[in-house]
Amino acid sequence: MKEEEGRKRYKEVEDLPGVGPATTEKLKAMGFSTVESLAIATIRELVATGIGEKQAAKMINEARDSITLTFLRADELLKMRENVARLTTGSKVLDELLGGGLETQTITEFYGEYGSGKSQICHQLCVNVQLPIDRGGLEASALYIDTENTLRPERIVQMATHLGLDPQKTVRNIIYAEAYNSDHQILLLEKADAKIKENNIRLIIVDSLTGHFRSEYLGRETLAERQQKINKHMHRLIRLAQAFNAVAVVTNQVMAKPDAFFGEKVEAVGGHIVGHTSHTRIFLRKASGGRVRIGRLVSSPYLPEGERVFKITEDGVEDVAEGE
Ligand code: ADP
Ligand code: MG
Repeated sequence: MKEEEGRKRYKEVEDLPGVGPATTEKLKAMGFSTVESLAIATIRELVATGIGEKQAAKMINEARDSITLTFLRADELLKMRENVARLTTGSKVLDELLGGGLETQTITEFYGEYGSGKSQICHQLCVNVQLPIDRGGLEASALYIDTENTLRPERIVQMATHLGLDPQKTVRNIIYAEAYNSDHQILLLEKADAKIKENNIRLIIVDSLTGHFRSEYLGRETLAERQQKINKHMHRLIRLAQAFNAVAVVTNQVMAKPDAFFGEKVEAVGGHIVGHTSHTRIFLRKASGGRVRIGRLVSSPYLPEGERVFKITEDGVEDVAEGE
């Protein structure tokens, strides 16, 4: 604990006043392993771990004071926004469409049909996040939650080599977790905060967000539960992204008609899959010819819609050269 400008700063959960080993254990079991995660927890979440309401409130307040996360005024929100950093996709035109790259503190969703390039972009981002700031990176590591056994280290090596990065080092800086089912997927994210902190992770990927849910929640009567679980999962993700100033990326496979997946039935049980304002959605599709792709910004909190053409080659995600 450090005193700074009269403010107490707690480094670990167990440093917080009144938090003993038993409480620490309870919290860690529920995925609250860091002061940052407590600062963004709700009283209800902590009560669910078996902690009293008063103590929960006190802990959250202490944690918040400790890491300056109590943003109540617009000027303070603005300050948080000033910390937003950008991560390059590898394509200048796509970055441009996104206002300079993928933002930290928000979720970016790539959706499209099978083979549209969602996982390839995820691979590329894992490499790019390791680049120096002046090359569009965040000088940080990546967490890849993989639900479809998609991550190919060989592909990372290819992309890293092309960018002049040490391929072995690049692979080492990607923390990989395979999710076996939707509950496991949720749990992985709930327990991710210590890993994120330890490894300087600034990119969190869930590829795919919805695959397990789609195959496990089949009947109409399960839609509400599915929706609720996905919502909670996404809220956890956005909180991690905010707490660690990280980029969060999810992918979503869709059938021929892109908006059909979130069609009426799902709409009816609780609106859009994530009603969060800071959610950016990009629809990917193949253009004619093998490697050209089209990315369309479908929704953004403040950017206009638009489309850009890029390509996926041996080297990774790139701009299409003039006359190509
Ligand atoms: P999805 O949207 O289903 O996740 P992927 O991101 O896996 O799709 O995209 C797969 C496509 O990416 C392949 O069909 C191919 O066009 C392209 N691709 C994958 N690996 C390479 C590579 N090494 N070189 C060139 N293109 C590749
Ligand atoms: Mg994929």
